[in-house]
Amino acid sequence: MAFDYDIAIVGGGIGGLMCAYEISEKTDKKVIIFEKGSELSKRKCPIVEKKVDKCIKCRNCAIMEGMAGAGAFSDGKYVISTEYGGWLPEFVEPDRIIELIERADDVLVRFGATNEVYTPSDELKKLCLEYDLHMLQAKIKHLGTDSNRETMMRLIDHIRERVMIMTDSEVVDVDSKTHTLDVVHNGLHEYFSADKIVFAVGRVGSRFFSSWCRKNGIKMENSQVDIGVRVELPALVWDHFSSKIYEPKIIYCSKRYGDKTRMFCFNERGSVVMENTDGVLTVNGHSYRDKSRKTENSNFALLTTMKFTEPFQAPIEYARSVASLSNMLSGGSVLVQRLGDLEAGKRTNEKRLLASTTRPTLKAVPGDLSLCMPKRQLDDIIETLHALDKIAPGTANYNTLLYGIECKYYSARPRTVDFEIENCPGMYALGDGAGFTRSLSQAAAHGLYIADKILS
Ligand SMILES: Cc1cc2nc3c(=O)[nH]c(=O)nc-3n(C[C@H](O)[C@H](O)[C@H](O)COP(=O)(O)OP(=O)(O)OC[C@H]3O[C@@H](n4cnc5c(N)ncnc54)[C@H](O)[C@@H]3O)c2cc1C
Repeated sequence: MAFDYDIAIVGGGIGGLMCAYEISEKTDKKVIIFEKGSELSKRKCPIVEKKVDKCIKCRNCAIMEGMAGAGAFSDGKYVISTEYGGWLPEFVEPDRIIELIERADDVLVRFGATNEVYTPSDELKKLCLEYDLHMLQAKIKHLGTDSNRETMMRLIDHIRERVMIMTDSEVVDVDSKTHTLDVVHNGLHEYFSADKIVFAVGRVGSRFFSSWCRKNGIKMENSQVDIGVRVELPALVWDHFSSKIYEPKIIYCSKRYGDKTRMFCFNERGSVVMENTDGVLTVNGHSYRDKSRKTENSNFALLTTMKFTEPFQAPIEYARSVASLSNMLSGGSVLVQRLGDLEAGKRTNEKRLLASTTRPTLKAVPGDLSLCMPKRQLDDIIETLHALDKIAPGTANYNTLLYGIECKYYSARPRTVDFEIENCPGMYALGDGAGFTRSLSQAAAHGLYIADKILS
């Protein structure tokens, strides 16, 4: 059968891009990328541009969708480790993953990424252990929101020389037998076929991908959801960690419930941002390498991991419902509350927020997180903040700001044989959208792995 293309990649995030890069560098196969969002240069979030105060739910969320994917506006922390960042080590030998992560890093460096690497510190790990806090160790690079974007811009321009890239093109269906892709471009359906098809749809495309899997009878496994808040405090509080290792990633097991709560996604002298995850507003953080864009505050995610058992099968919907409640209470925005007010059972109102010694970097609605966050997760978060206060005094201050809801839900994972989707020969599942990864480095490594597989 004659196909229009040898390889079609659905999604122009880092996973899809690395896959396209590798194939186009090594062969002259005809490759096409379909991306539902815009070109990277056109991705402009009206909140980040300070045109609006709250999310106006653009048709395509500029933060999550478009060329370079969810990573485009990310802080660009590139983790060179298999300790965290996804579940690839369950499927691929850790040494091979490290080799792929480093190969992807070489590609990024070729297009301008920094060479600076932060190394783990045993001294800080020991300090954490004294208080039953468990710090994950990794070499890490900070690409920076601004530099990361420029690097991705150059990488995409290079890929475009040999690969067809169609933006504003949403793949709405794929025929698993004929390998025909139904693509909506400028409101019209267009059809393309390809010998090999790679689904690299990211978290934003996970609902589409799961329903496609269900429709095609492919069995899926649900993974965990993480629910919690974004914590913002004066940068000085965590300076002794961030100046040495850049990003502290610490796990605490709550005494009360035995739940795992993770501190991660640390943004040194950064800003809290709002993002639209598939119609629901959640929070996240950024930090820039450019010194002029640094703030007085650092922020990090503090999320409790929930793993549900039978008969419950909708962990993502659960997390979305919790986040939707905060959207409802804040009149279509996200909430911010001082830790002291939360512990005292008081709502943070405008007046109390104005009195806060920590100045918020995001214009969120002052409110009461206990009205939307389930008690169990809220207890876990408060307990963890007090545990963290022992290694970074000031973390559990009255004026520590908590923004909610932040949630990370990981896509359901389809059954595959070495990432080739069961009963769908020539179709591959890649990256965050397929529940294999949850970081730039593992998604990038996964893209290279699947390229190698296709080429072999
Ligand atoms: C604000 C933010 C900050 C982050 N910071 C970091 C960080 O510092 N370090 C880190 O390691 N990770 C970070 N992450 C996570 C990281 O960005 C992701 O793990 C990574 O981007 C996953 O890559 P991916 O290629 O699998 O998916 P994505 O990057 O999400 O790309 C998927 C692409 O597919 C497109 N798409 C989806 N469905 C369709 C469809 N049907 N048709 C066509 N196109 C489609 C989407 O628009 C998207 O552009 C951050 C994420 C966010 C949102």
